Amino acid sequence: MTGPVRLPLSGRMPQDRDEIAIVGGGPAGLAAAEVLGEAGRAVTVYERMPSVARKLLIAGRGGLNITHSEGRPDFLARYHPQGYLDAAIAAFPPEALRDWCTELGEPTFVGSSGRVFPQSFKASPLLRGWLARLDSLGVRIRTRHRLTALGEALTFEAPDGPVEVRPRATLLALGGASWPRLGSDGRWVPLLEGLGVAVAPLRPANVGFAVAWSDVFRQRFAGAPLKRVALACNGATARGEAVITEAGLEGGAVYALSRTLREAIAARGSAELVIDLRPDLTRDALARRLSGARPGDSTATRLRKAAGLPPVAAGLLRETVAALPADPGLLAGLIKAAPLTLTAPAPIERAISTAGGVRLDALDGRSMLRAHPGLFLAGEMLDWEAPTGGYLLQGSIAGGRAAAAGMLDWLAETGG
Ligand SMILES: Cc1cc2nc3c(=O)[nH]c(=O)nc-3n(C[C@H](O)[C@H](O)[C@H](O)COP(=O)(O)OP(=O)(O)OC[C@H]3O[C@@H](n4cnc5c(N)ncnc54)[C@H](O)[C@@H]3O)c2cc1C
Repeated sequence: MTGPVRLPLSGRMPQDRDEIAIVGGGPAGLAAAEVLGEAGRAVTVYERMPSVARKLLIAGRGGLNITHSEGRPDFLARYHPQGYLDAAIAAFPPEALRDWCTELGEPTFVGSSGRVFPQSFKASPLLRGWLARLDSLGVRIRTRHRLTALGEALTFEAPDGPVEVRPRATLLALGGASWPRLGSDGRWVPLLEGLGVAVAPLRPANVGFAVAWSDVFRQRFAGAPLKRVALACNGATARGEAVITEAGLEGGAVYALSRTLREAIAARGSAELVIDLRPDLTRDALARRLSGARPGDSTATRLRKAAGLPPVAAGLLRETVAALPADPGLLAGLIKAAPLTLTAPAPIERAISTAGGVRLDALDGRSMLRAHPGLFLAGEMLDWEAPTGGYLLQGSIAGGRAAAAGMLDWLAETGG
């Protein structure tokens, strides 16, 4: 018997001891299921939602940036803490991930930013191909099964009542706590803490930040992009786009700095973000342009014509100082380093990903909890983070595969 067991009212029933349970049907869990299925193991994926991989599908709305093409040292340096995912990514690097997409019928291409996307720009065809492959490997998927207790057995809330399973080995790949309506809600934290496992608080990553905009600025510019800017905070820098929101600032360049900004706010209550609105021009070149403006030009005209700033950038400058300096050198200095105070990250529900999670030192080199042999973890529920750019999916998929390899190793060692 391999299926899950409906609990009789009186208590527990034994389960197929050869079964491997994967809890969480996101990219990490499905990647592990594939490796275990290929190894001929009896695998069941338990997923609390009516269907698997909802976050992967939402990522598809942005074109599904599945990995990145940059060179390996730069690529690996995107992950924090550095080193943790190195072996997993070496075993399943971006090139292997791209080949895998092609095998599933979704060839990829490198966009102008170096990011990698499937040619269809969608997640659903890739997921369809992936699920078909898992099906061909005999992987069973049980949706609407929410893990509610973790101990000698796994207990799930399922449509017809509680289900208990006692697998030979278990992989938890329960995700973080962002976008909880997609399934990952972080409610696993007490389950693991109940086992004595240390969990770093779940915090928003790749997230926007609150700024106390004036009403005038907010009303006029919410939704407007600041294109091709350079951002800096405490020595960390990022180039790209930032978008003005009702509540503050978001966008790729902001997300790239979100760990530094979040940590600065946690330490001091606010973070100073320094914005270079013309990173392509030196301060001197900008000052020369501003000096060459017509004498009668207003500051607004000088910012637009001489400095080439769009209205949103000029408006932002006015948000950062009480009065704009008339002196070209000082004005150029402000354009190159406009200081903006960020007061809080947006709530985790609105973050693209989650920082914090199960502390990495709780795991051995096989992704198994040291204190709980047979219980493995992978994906975003672990205490690592990375910026947007394909690093999250690459890390989750490679991490899931590595955990499965660790599991096979452990099963072989323990006679399974
Ligand atoms: C809007 C958005 C866009 C994104 N775009 C990109 C992108 O373009 N590129 C990129 O690299 N990354 C992107 N990401 C991030 C990426 O989707 C995640 O990092 C990745 O899905 C994490 O994989 P995971 O398997 O660890 O967790 P998840 O994908 O969160 O999967 C965890 C699964 O566990 C299930 N689960 C949770 N608790 C239980 C329980 N108690 N019982 C049973 N099942 C449970 C959940 O329902 C979920 O299906 C995006 C995220 C969002 C929100």
